[in-house]
Amino acid sequence: MSSSSVRVSPDSRRQGNCQKPGIQPLLLGAQPHRRAHLYLFVRRQADRNGRHLGPLEPTLHLERNHPLAWVSKKARAPSLEKFSYLSAGRLHHANAEKIWKRIGDAMTAYVDVDRQGGRQVLPLAHDPLAKRELLVKWDVLSLADRMKQMKFSEEIRNLLSPQLSINCHNTLDQGGFADMLRWWALGDYDMGRMFDKLGRYGIREGMSELANRMLADSSADVRLAAPVKSIEKQGDTYRVTGPQNQVVKARSVVLALPLNVLSSIRMEPALGSTKLQMAAAGHTGHGSKCYIHIRQKIGNWVGSAPNPFPITLAWTEKHPDEGTVLVAFGPPGKLDITDEETVQKAIRGLIPKAEVLGVTGYQWEADPYSRGTWCWYRPGQLTQGLAELRKAEGGIFMAGADQAEGWRGFVDGAIESGITAARDVRNFLKA
Ligand SMILES: Cc1cc2nc3c(=O)[nH]c(=O)nc-3n(C[C@H](O)[C@H](O)[C@H](O)COP(=O)(O)OP(=O)(O)OC[C@H]3O[C@@H](n4cnc5c(N)ncnc54)[C@H](O)[C@@H]3O)c2cc1C
Repeated sequence: MSSSSVRVSPDSRRQGNCQKPGIQPLLLGAQPHRRAHLYLFVRRQADRNGRHLGPLEPTLHLERNHPLAWVSKKARAPSLEKFSYLSAGRLHHANAEKIWKRIGDAMTAYVDVDRQGGRQVLPLAHDPLAKRELLVKWDVLSLADRMKQMKFSEEIRNLLSPQLSINCHNTLDQGGFADMLRWWALGDYDMGRMFDKLGRYGIREGMSELANRMLADSSADVRLAAPVKSIEKQGDTYRVTGPQNQVVKARSVVLALPLNVLSSIRMEPALGSTKLQMAAAGHTGHGSKCYIHIRQKIGNWVGSAPNPFPITLAWTEKHPDEGTVLVAFGPPGKLDITDEETVQKAIRGLIPKAEVLGVTGYQWEADPYSRGTWCWYRPGQLTQGLAELRKAEGGIFMAGADQAEGWRGFVDGAIESGITAARDVRNFLKA
């Protein structure tokens, strides 16, 4: 998926039919498809970012009066009826509803840091640092540290861990616990609501179509296959250097890069030290995701396994004419999704007789323009890094899902941050 990697507002002589006469946005992107196959440069009125109108994806919801009203609320979460899980070296099969209830109870206890289900520590989901002074104490913990504080049975640990592992798309020792409190708040402090928001709805026409429509609404001059190598400040101007040393000059630049590639662009002057630290550590989303087509008809199934199993969570995604299509997630470096035999061996840990007909997936980790999947912060990054990461430095503005305030790590967060950056750039250029 692609949003703009670097958005440049060149000088005022280049007129365009954009929202403010005299500002012509230019979008430079490395590749035509990115994390959600979406181009996020939107010519958008910043004022529309005033209120979150809806309970699910608030920023997308702002598109209601826009041609994007086609965003369909299509319930797609199948009622997953069968649950298989690995615990204590054995594969168990159970009624999914009962297992979800147990996981829900465990998760509710896990996030209950203040006897108010996290409401005191993170009262405003879209302003995660509103009670920073209370959150700091919990932000030092990893997901694994918090697990150690809980008096869960081994079975409950083995059921809850895969859920947490898919969230941070890594092992529990890497993921910050504070981000779990954030998701919980975004999910209205309730597991069912959280799952609804995370996965219940899809866009009927697909993410790419959303991207196309947003792009069609923009006056931006789009140049893809134009990875930026460096950005240098010269007086009031930024020189953005791309392939074959092509240079674009601009008064302001929006860096809408994934956190994990932020350090790949040479900046002169360098970004502030907190930004550099955040970029060097990166976020934890380094795991695998793939679709597995198996010969068997297994119905609406979900399976989970704790670390170090190569597939931590998988479930039925589709019922094609032949067999079943599963979607499967795993921690970093455990599953070669290009090797069907390896995938078959792994999925047989959860579905012993599975015959794999095909596997597909994208290796986000290997892509130099993403270096990972979705964003989940490490311990300390939320309270020590986010606010600083978001700050503009001169004419350099920050955007992208990985530093959004609300749905950080989601398409909605990317849009939120794009709207904010557009407003800030406009004010900067007006000044
Ligand atoms: C497998 C997977 C599943 C996901 N599922 C969901 C989901 O169900 N729902 C959801 O909301 N979110 C989901 N996400 C997360 C979501 O896709 C991202 O959070 C969001 O798309 C990020 O948008 P962005 O514009 O900030 O970054 P990106 O989409 O990563 O765009 C960054 C852009 O920067 C470009 N770039 C990088 N380096 C350079 C350079 N040097 N020069 C020029 N351009 C450069 C890239 O090519 C890219 O175009 C998922 C992500 C993955 C990987």
